[in-house]
Amino acid sequence: MSSKQNEQAISPIKGMRDILPEEARLWQMVEASARKIFELYGFRELRAPILEPTELFERGTGASSDIVTKEMYTFTDKGGRSVTLRPEYTPSVVRAIIEHRLDLQPLPLRFYYTGPMFRYDRPQKGRYRQFHQIDVEVFGEQDAAIDAEIIEMAYRFFQEVKVEGVSTLVNSVGCPRCRPAYGQALREAATKASDRLCTDCQRKAEINPLRIFDCKQESCQEAARTFPRITDYLCEECREHFKKFLSYLDLYQLPYRIEPTLVRGLDYYTKTTFELVVENLGAQNAIGGGGRYDNMVKEFGGPDLCGTGLAIGLERLLLVSKLEAPAPDFAYFAYSGEQARQASLLAARYFRTLGIPCIIEFKERSWKAHFSRANKIGATWTVIIGEDELSSGEYQLKDMLESKQYKGTIEQLTQIVIEKEKARQGILGRD
Ligand SMILES: [Zn+2]
Ligand SMILES: [Zn+2]
Repeated sequence: MSSKQNEQAISPIKGMRDILPEEARLWQMVEASARKIFELYGFRELRAPILEPTELFERGTGASSDIVTKEMYTFTDKGGRSVTLRPEYTPSVVRAIIEHRLDLQPLPLRFYYTGPMFRYDRPQKGRYRQFHQIDVEVFGEQDAAIDAEIIEMAYRFFQEVKVEGVSTLVNSVGCPRCRPAYGQALREAATKASDRLCTDCQRKAEINPLRIFDCKQESCQEAARTFPRITDYLCEECREHFKKFLSYLDLYQLPYRIEPTLVRGLDYYTKTTFELVVENLGAQNAIGGGGRYDNMVKEFGGPDLCGTGLAIGLERLLLVSKLEAPAPDFAYFAYSGEQARQASLLAARYFRTLGIPCIIEFKERSWKAHFSRANKIGATWTVIIGEDELSSGEYQLKDMLESKQYKGTIEQLTQIVIEKEKARQGILGRD
């Protein structure tokens, strides 16, 4: 490698991006809201690895799914094993349940998680190869009330993170008992409409006609609108489950619409499927979705444990969130000379022990330069320590928001900061 190449700046991998501090603060707020609200409903965090054996996702999403065929971030590790950066979270949770025999714990199990997922997709606005999801899963609860409660919880979360205008599209995709008859009817309709379908969908018509509903081509969508509807083919049990699910959405007075073409992109769904959409987000208007996957754990070689869940895309959520991150409150130390610097270091340590954030800098500055620096970086407090303060043991404290100045011992000054910040809901009152 030539020295010239060495000097070239290195960019991130296509589809990956940095989240800089100002934006990261919004992420922290959203993640904190998710944790707070999910815990309110009895959910507990389960953290699984980012990297998993490739076969986990091949089995999880079904070999004919678009995610598996096109979008997985798969590579061979140094041990010659095929590994994949998770494209979704559910298969990892299912693997963890089987691995740790979590099904032996009191049911139902309620888990949540927030973190990065990876899809080798064409990057576009609000869509990255490393993207982030909030994920909730419930295992061992058949009752349709849980499907509705998950959606009600999502609405509470949206309210907390200032996302408005969300409505829910709902459907039932039936079960292995009723789906074959529907699949047959759908295959026949799709074959008849073959000349109106894209080549991709013509292939799907034979392998998995349900997937045609996911196609974004206008001609395919138009043809799909004339196809038979799954809700007309549901067995007694699925029909009853769907009816109950809707009745609980009514109970909560949540806005929803039945969308018979909503089958979701994955093979493992049974009964309930839903999508959370924001009207003003344009074509890519879904910010979350989920549904029931009653046979997935069993198909993974685990016990017969039904599941239901929800995933919310954080990038898209942040596109529509009206959340604003407040500027951080902190104290800045202005000092002159080595002795005052040492006093400042110890004072800052004491401030931090009491939970007051501080910034102390080590560039020698004039008093004037100190004050303009404090203003520039947005300090809410400035602690002033010079020769007079050192000899008297009483430091000065400037309230930068109210332009008031105080004098006192370090204990007195910290009390002033704490009381004022509590009144302002600042440093100490925020979380
Ligand atoms: Zn059924
Ligand atoms: Zn198509």
